[in-house]
Amino acid sequence: MIGVFALQGDVREHAHALTACGAVARPIRRPAELDDVDGLIIPGGESTTMSKLAIEFGLYDPIAKRLADGMPVYGSCAGMIMLASTVLDGRPDQRSFGAISMTVRRNAFGRQVDSFEAPVAVSGLSDEPYHAVFIRAPWVESVDPGVTVLGSITRTGADGTTAPHAVAVRQGAALATSFHPELTGDLRLHDLFVRMVRESR
Ligand code: GLN
Repeated sequence: MIGVFALQGDVREHAHALTACGAVARPIRRPAELDDVDGLIIPGGESTTMSKLAIEFGLYDPIAKRLADGMPVYGSCAGMIMLASTVLDGRPDQRSFGAISMTVRRNAFGRQVDSFEAPVAVSGLSDEPYHAVFIRAPWVESVDPGVTVLGSITRTGADGTTAPHAVAVRQGAALATSFHPELTGDLRLHDLFVRMVRESR
């Protein structure tokens, strides 16, 4: 059974994708619901709100503990921000789990251009690039050794510079993407995550 952090974000889309991959999905709103899941997805949404609600609902510390114990986790967009060790352009009181030793920048691709779609080749999945949907997405500004960059995109950011930026990363049992595979019906990343959860059991 795989949990989906369900206090905020596109929970239903992730649950559908997990079900389509043959997994059982459980929305997580209370700490006790975490006890019998083998993995967790943190959806897209708004990371500042997720951080606030996770603390208010007493979920922050139990999730941090499970992640420290090695529970597999996948975060998309706001979920990626929640997994970072360092968040740039975040709110001062925003907290993140640090499951991946990386620095991410919120809203890095710009606010006006709220949304764009672009092909992203993700290593290890197959030659067909992902049709990636970016919605006020973060990028990965830097990673520590031990983090594998699975996919990058070259695009002009909110800072006006055009450079390649990592948008899909993995460190051990933690996976994160700047984009939203749960919105496009391409199940390869959820399938990879379900396999990571099965292998960890
Ligand atoms: N900009 C949002 C944040 O900072 C993320 C957007 C998303 O998840 N689509 O949390």
